[in-house]
Amino acid sequence: MADQLDRAWELSEMHLREALAHCRPLQGESRTHCLECDAPIPEGRRKAAPGCQYCVQCAAELGG
Ligand SMILES: [Zn+2]
Repeated sequence: MADQLDRAWELSEMHLREALAHCRPLQGESRTHCLECDAPIPEGRRKAAPGCQYCVQCAAELGG
């Protein structure tokens, strides 16, 4: 059971990193809300990807 949880967590981490990789910094200024769907962008994501304009979901869709 613990292994499955670890794996699920690993996958979501991987997904997040993939999404972050697609996030292109524009002006070094992050938005607090997604440009596409207006969802709030977590502070952790804004710090991890300065200049981020989209939430994780939109970044993944736009990037992939
Ligand atoms: Zn979005």
